[in-house]
Amino acid sequence: MKTKEIMASLQAKYPTEKEYLQAVQEVLESIEEVYNKHPEFEKAKIVERLVEPDRIFTFRVTWVDDSGEVRTNIGYRVQFNSAIGPYKGGLRFHKAVTPSMLKFLGFEQTFKNALTTLPMGGGKGGSDFDPVGKSDAEIMRFCQAFMLELWRCIGPDQDIPAGDVGVGGREIGFMNGMYQKLAQEYHTGVLTGKGVTWGGSILRPEATGFGALYFTQHLLHRVGKDIKGMKVAISGFGNVAWGASKKAMQLGAQVIAVSGPDGVCHIPEGLTPEMNDYMLVMRASNRNLVEDLAVKFPEKVRFTKGKKAWSIPCDIALPCAFQNELALEDAQELKRNGCWCCCEVSNMGCQPDAIHFFQNNGFLFAPGKAVNAGGVATSGLEMTQNAQHISWSAQEVDEKLHWIMENIHEQCVKFGAQPDGRIDYVKGANIAGFMKVAQAMLEQGII
Ligand code: GLU
Repeated sequence: MKTKEIMASLQAKYPTEKEYLQAVQEVLESIEEVYNKHPEFEKAKIVERLVEPDRIFTFRVTWVDDSGEVRTNIGYRVQFNSAIGPYKGGLRFHKAVTPSMLKFLGFEQTFKNALTTLPMGGGKGGSDFDPVGKSDAEIMRFCQAFMLELWRCIGPDQDIPAGDVGVGGREIGFMNGMYQKLAQEYHTGVLTGKGVTWGGSILRPEATGFGALYFTQHLLHRVGKDIKGMKVAISGFGNVAWGASKKAMQLGAQVIAVSGPDGVCHIPEGLTPEMNDYMLVMRASNRNLVEDLAVKFPEKVRFTKGKKAWSIPCDIALPCAFQNELALEDAQELKRNGCWCCCEVSNMGCQPDAIHFFQNNGFLFAPGKAVNAGGVATSGLEMTQNAQHISWSAQEVDEKLHWIMENIHEQCVKFGAQPDGRIDYVKGANIAGFMKVAQAMLEQGII
């Protein structure tokens, strides 16, 4: 397999799909060497098959807004790969959603899910619906209209969606209600991220952020450091950022910056649990403005318009917002400001040249598909609880999540060890995820 040749053919086929091509390039580059030691992979054309989604559903979603106007959006479900289990992955509602974005996310999800140790294939879906400024009633009508089409494509043993950017517990609730009505199926297992009274797992809302911090701890412990007392800068103020800052505070770190599309909030004395929980109110308001934190806590929080979290001096950077949110200039600014560790929590949150900069400048860096896998892993735990018609305690879920993150860290170390003793976590995560999926595809024949 030659990365260059495969990339050239994908570029010719999908010239406009920037994010998808970026994600594939990153994975192929890191697996090429290992792949070429396995002629049986080449014979079965594993890579050529793995880079293409199994199928993509596209559908029209029409709904009525509060003023009575008829609106139309496009909905998608990308079923990427089912070699190790049913398709599993979130739904993203964001105005910039395109097939390219969902293909990149589905591709990443395939490897991430393989890393979790649980039997889940990769999928992703969503819509170009923009939740910003929408009322609760509009959100409900959109979710119902979306499910009116999506329900045909999914099922508890086929494809199990969950949340992602723009989709949280409220949206999962509206979609689950509609699914049950349409499918006449009251098994609670077709979506994850449900409310705890109707089949959701305790700790699922926290899981992505908690898992990211458990991973960060392992990364630090390996080099004899601890997160206690560290200054942490976080981008975003959604569910993932909320869980990450909650656990960072519990572990004794100081969260000194939180950012949004409008600018950054600097919190010199550190975020408090009260401020952190207010982020949930800000998110549910659909205003999408981080400045609201400074308005609510004017004495403790200073807002600067147009700046990113990476402009505030910190030890550890945690991108928790969106793909490609951290550019080379941001990585350079972080270094100038004394930062030495970046754990990518968002999917593909760092641009490729920012990652190279981190790696060439002695940063500890780990990629999203390893760091944020605790979210989907806990979705997997939710599926297990649903299948058994039981629910586990917070302690039980937390212990399992902890174990899974430790295991993912170990896989990265095993497959990412460099001759100089350093760990290349990007390589480690990609090779570990790939080997599992490739082996599963190989053993199941040419299909
Ligand atoms: N959207 C999350 C992710 O990127 C969670 C997916 C899930 O729980 O299925 O992994």
